[in-house]
Amino acid sequence: MNLIDSHCHLDVPDFADDLPEVIARAVQNGVARFIVPAISASGWPHLAKLSTRHPGLHPAYGLHPMFLTDHTDADLDALSQWVSRPECVAVGECGLDFFLCDLDPIRQESIFIAHIRLAVETGKPLIIHARQATERVIQLLRRHGPTHGVIHSYSGSLEQARLLIEMGFMLGIGGPITYPRSRRIREIAKECPLSHLLLETDAPDQPMAGEQGRRNEPAKLVRVAETLAEIRALPVIEVAAQTRLNAQRLFGLAA
Ligand code: ZN
Repeated sequence: MNLIDSHCHLDVPDFADDLPEVIARAVQNGVARFIVPAISASGWPHLAKLSTRHPGLHPAYGLHPMFLTDHTDADLDALSQWVSRPECVAVGECGLDFFLCDLDPIRQESIFIAHIRLAVETGKPLIIHARQATERVIQLLRRHGPTHGVIHSYSGSLEQARLLIEMGFMLGIGGPITYPRSRRIREIAKECPLSHLLLETDAPDQPMAGEQGRRNEPAKLVRVAETLAEIRALPVIEVAAQTRLNAQRLFGLAA
């Protein structure tokens, strides 16, 4: 298999001690390329350095909504330069999180809108986090787009999924589909066109079924591919090939 993990946080301290081993295990399992979206400005230089050390690691630069209180206006000003760097494949992670109620929604929206504008300006795709906020994300994308990208770990409705696909977005599918009780996500993974799905682990978060409480890692992406193949009654090799092509196309990666 030859898979691309379209969303993993290999730059976080959870991987500081054994990143080469984590990457080696991923490669052994057919996962040789990784899209790594940044969390906050303080992490951008480290992420850039990692991408020079590991050629399969492709960074995106952005300001993650869950870390809202870390972000300053100066970070936003600096972001446009970071996003224009040649190693940067996308703008993000950005978006809205209305699940955590201590995050000021007005400030979240203004930072997210700045990311959308940068994506429009640079032509690079957005990597979007939308938790209990899919409707508002769609509204803001409509108002400030048009642009393209991925809604990572998609958790909206099937109707919203179809709308987003029509608008030019892909949906990130990860560990949650391995849980038999995640019926809605599994239905979306079955019904939406395979040409608009990306595979992701969101490592170190979102462990696969049966591995709760343990650190997730890109080697586990195979389980997402296998589960998606099972849900869609397709050979796993076909799911792997199409989703790899989707990621290559979206992030402008070589074949
Ligand atoms: Zn993430």
